[in-house]
Amino acid sequence: MSKYDVVIIGSGLGGLLCGTILSKEGKSVCILEKHHQLGGNLQTFKRDGKIFDTGFHYVGGLNEGQNLHQYFKYFGLTGKLRLERLDLNSFDKIGFKGKEYSFAQGFDRFVEILTNDFPSEKNALIAYKKKIKEVCNHFPLYNLKPVHDLSSEQKYLEQSIGSFLNSVTSNKTLQNVLAGNNLLYAGTPDKSSLAMHALIANSFIDGGTYRFVDGSSQLADQLVNIIEQNGGVLRKNSEAVNFTIENDKIKSVQLKNGEQIEGGRFISAINPHATLQMVNSDLIRKSYRERINELEETISSFILFVSFKPDSFKYLKSNYYHFNEDTVWTISSYNPEKWPQNYMFLTPPSGNSNEFAETATAITYMKYEEVQQWENTKSGNRGADYEEFKKQKAEKLIEQVELNHPGFKKSIHKYYTSSPLTYRDYTGTRNGSLYGIVHDCNNLLKTTIPAKTKIPNLLFTGQNINLHGALGVTVGSVMTCSEILGMEYLIQKMNHA
Ligand SMILES: Cc1cc2nc3c(=O)[nH]c(=O)nc-3n(C[C@H](O)[C@H](O)[C@H](O)COP(=O)(O)OP(=O)(O)OC[C@H]3O[C@@H](n4cnc5c(N)ncnc54)[C@H](O)[C@@H]3O)c2cc1C
Repeated sequence: MSKYDVVIIGSGLGGLLCGTILSKEGKSVCILEKHHQLGGNLQTFKRDGKIFDTGFHYVGGLNEGQNLHQYFKYFGLTGKLRLERLDLNSFDKIGFKGKEYSFAQGFDRFVEILTNDFPSEKNALIAYKKKIKEVCNHFPLYNLKPVHDLSSEQKYLEQSIGSFLNSVTSNKTLQNVLAGNNLLYAGTPDKSSLAMHALIANSFIDGGTYRFVDGSSQLADQLVNIIEQNGGVLRKNSEAVNFTIENDKIKSVQLKNGEQIEGGRFISAINPHATLQMVNSDLIRKSYRERINELEETISSFILFVSFKPDSFKYLKSNYYHFNEDTVWTISSYNPEKWPQNYMFLTPPSGNSNEFAETATAITYMKYEEVQQWENTKSGNRGADYEEFKKQKAEKLIEQVELNHPGFKKSIHKYYTSSPLTYRDYTGTRNGSLYGIVHDCNNLLKTTIPAKTKIPNLLFTGQNINLHGALGVTVGSVMTCSEILGMEYLIQKMNHA
C-alpha cells in the first residue's frame, strides 16, 4: 500500500493545481484520475489530424501585473504556454437583434467602443466599469491578498446580475449586450450574482485575454511535468470508489480495482455529491448529504466541432455570441422547440494556420432531459436513434452559424458533436453540467460549498467550491491548499514568485 501526504481525487484543473502547489511546498502528492487522459476539461481530442478543445477556449488576466499571470508565475508556467492574444478591440462580439457589438480589452477602450453604439449611455457604461472594478477590489484572493473575513464579498455575491444591470441603465438593449457572454457562466438574471459576472467580465476586459494555440491540454501537460519534477505521482485509469475511515478520519481511498491508497489528507477535486457517496461516516449528517444531493447543476451543452477544408474559412480573432431571441438570458427562456436560441462560435488557433482556420467550435445549451433516454448507453455505442438525434441538432446549428457567418457551410470538411452524455461520461460532471453547481445569489449559504468538510482530513476543491473557469478554479485551489499550508504563508510565496 502506498502512502502520501496528500491524495487528490480528479486531475482536472483543480486537482492539478492543488498537486502543483502542495508538491512545490514539499508535500508528497498522488493524483488519481479515472480516465486514460489527465486534465478533465483541459483534455483535447484529435479528429482528422486536428486538435479540438473540450472545455477551455480562452482565458483572461494573463498579462504581467494581472492576477492569473502572478498565480501562473508561482506555479512555474511563465513562458511555457503557447498563447495567442484575442483582438484588442473585440475579444468578444455580441450578435444581438441584428447588430454586432464589440467588447474591447482595456476598460477605457471597452467604454469608448460601446459608447459609439450607445451614445446616450456613456455615463451608464462608466458606472458599469466602476462597479466591476469595485466588486473585484473586494475579493482579496483575486488580488493575491489573504482573506481575513468574507464580509467584504458578501453583498456582491447576494446581488443578482439582473438587478445590477437594471440599476445601471434602463436601456434594455445595453443591458442585454453587457450580459451577452453570459454563456461563460450559464447565467440567469435572477440567480447569477453580480460578483460572478464582475469577476469573469473583469478578467477578460482588463486585458491579457488569450487563447491556447493547439489546445488547452498543454496547460495540463505543463502542470503534470511540474508535479512530477517535484516528486508527485499521477495515476490514470484510477477511479476512486470509496474511503476507508478510521477514528473519524480517512485512512485510505479505494480504487475500482480494489487497491488502497493511503494518505494523511485527501482532496476531492470532483463533484461533491459523488465524493459524499464515497464517505460512510456519521460525521456527515443526513441533512448535509441531502443538501448537497439536491444542489442544482448548471445546464449542459451541445457542441459542434468542425474540421475545415484547407484555406476555406478565415481565422477569427474574436469569439462570437449570437442570439435568436430578444433576450440574452436564454436559460430562463429555454425552449427545445426554438433550439438553438443562442450559441458561441470561435475558431481556435492552430500552429499550422494563420489567415485561415483549421477548425471551429459552436457551443449551445442543451438540457440533459433531451438525451436522458440514452443515459444507460456507452459512448460510441448509443444506437442509431441517438446518432440521428445528434445529426439533426448539428444540422440546425450549422444552419444558424451559416446565417451569421456566410460561407461556413461550404467550408466544412467533417464535423463531430458532443451532447450532455459526452460531458457526463468524459468529465464526470453530473448530467454533463457545464460549470458544476448553480450558485444562487438568493440562497448563498445553501449553494456555497466550503473547502473544509466535517471530516477533518478531507477537503474539497475544483469548480464547485468557488467559481468555475481558469481564474475561479485557481483561486479555489489556493483556498483549499491554504487549509494545509496556511493562507498568509501561501499568499506571501505567491506574491514573491
Ligand atoms: C464546454 C466548456 C467550455 C468552457 N470554456 C472555458 C473557457 O473558455 N475558459 C475557462 O476559463 N473555463 C472554461 N470552462 C470551465 C472550465 O473548463 C472548468 O470550470 C474547469 O476546467 C473545472 O475544473 P475542475 O478541476 O473543477 O473539474 P474537471 O475539469 O471536471 O475535472 C474533474 C476530473 O475528475 C475526474 N474524476 C471524476 N470522478 C472521479 C473519480 N471517482 N476518481 C478519479 N477521478 C475522477 C474526471 O474524470 C475529471 O478528469 C468551460 C467548461 C466547459 C464544459
